[in-house]
Amino acid sequence: MTEKNGKNVIHTEHLKKYYIMGDIEVRALHDISLDVNYGEFTAIMGPSGSGKSTLMNILGCLDRPTGGLYILDGTDVSSMDDSQLAEVRNKKIGFVFQSFNLLSRSSALENVMMPLLYSRNKDHAKERAAEVLDLVGLGSRLGHKPKELSGGQQQRVAIARALINDPEIIMADEPTGNLDSKSGKEIMQILISLNQDKGKTILMVTHDPKIGRQVPRVISVFDGMIGTEEEQEIIKNWQNPDFLNVSGLKKPDSASVSLKKEQINPNGNGKMKNEAKETVSNPFSDTFGTDDNDLEEEEESSAADALAEAFGNRKKVANEELPAGKQFLVNPIKGNEEGKTA
Ligand code: ADP
Ligand code: MG
Repeated sequence: MTEKNGKNVIHTEHLKKYYIMGDIEVRALHDISLDVNYGEFTAIMGPSGSGKSTLMNILGCLDRPTGGLYILDGTDVSSMDDSQLAEVRNKKIGFVFQSFNLLSRSSALENVMMPLLYSRNKDHAKERAAEVLDLVGLGSRLGHKPKELSGGQQQRVAIARALINDPEIIMADEPTGNLDSKSGKEIMQILISLNQDKGKTILMVTHDPKIGRQVPRVISVFDGMIGTEEEQEIIKNWQNPDFLNVSGLKKPDSASVSLKKEQINPNGNGKMKNEAKETVSNPFSDTFGTDDNDLEEEEESSAADALAEAFGNRKKVANEELPAGKQFLVNPIKGNEEGKTA
C-alpha cells in the first residue's frame, strides 16, 4: 500500500517554523517539502538542534508551522485552530516520546485510556485499552503504575496509548533514547511489527546512525532543511563498520572525513552563511559518544539489530553489489578528491 486515492499520508510544501527570541529570529525549520507514503517506515535524522523535534511536532499536529502547506491524510491541517488540530491528532496520529510522558499516579490501563477522554468513540474503553496493552506484551500489568514498571515496559505502555485510537501514523521522537539496548530492541520490534503486520506508517526521529542505516527510508535534516540525496547517504552510512571495513582499511581519522558546512548545506540559509566555513567532522558528534564506542557497541543486541532483522542490512548489500574498486571508503561526496577508493 503506497497511496490512497492517489495521495500521500503526509505531504508538505515549504514548511517553515520561525521563533522570535527578542530581536532574533530563530529559523528552526526552513523550507521543508516532503512526502511520506502510506505504510512507509521512515527515520528523520540530523544533528542536535537541526530541527527534528520541531518537524515531528508539526507533522504530529502538536504545533503549527509559521508558513507553508501541510496535508495530512488528505486534509489541509496547516491553518487549523487548536481544537481542530487536537481532533485530527487524536484520530490520525499516535505519538511516542523519548521520556514516555506517562501519568505517574495512573495505572497502565488508565494511561492507555487517556486519549479516549478526548475522543468521540468511548465505547468499550477498558476492553480496548486492555487489548492494546496485551498487543505490546503487557496484558498482565494493567494495574501497574509507571514506577512499578521498567523503562522498556513504560515505553510499551506509551506505545499502547498511541495505538488506542487506531491511528494511521505512529510518530516516535527518539523512542529508544532513554532505554538500554535490550529494551530498545524490544521497542523497535514492536514498531516494526506495527509497520509490517498492521500496515501502520511509522515516522521516527533518531540520531543513531546504527538505527538509521537499517531503516528503509531516511529523511535527513540539517539546519532546518532537508538534506540532498547525497547527504542522506552520508548520514545513513557515517559510522557503518561494514562500509568502512570492505577493504580492511581502518576507520579514517576525523580530519580526513571532515566536511565543510557549505558542502553539507549548499543552499544554506542566512544563519548558515555566517558560519559557512565551520568544519564539522561528524554531524552527530555532540549527540553521541566517540566513534570507537559506537563500533564496540555493534556487538550488542540493539534497536538497530531489530531493524536489520526486519529490513536487512541494506547498505551492506548495496556495497557488495559494487565492483571492488568502486566501493566508497571514506567520503561518498568527496570520493577521490579527499578520500580514496580501493
Ligand atoms: P532537534 O530535535 O533536531 O535537536 P529542535 O527541533 O529541538 O532540534 O530545535 C531546532 C532549533 O529550534 C534549535 O536551534 C532550537 O534551539 C530552536 N527551538 C526549538 N524550540 C524552540 C522554541 N520553543 N523557542 C525558540 N527556539 C526553539
Ligand atoms: Mg529533538
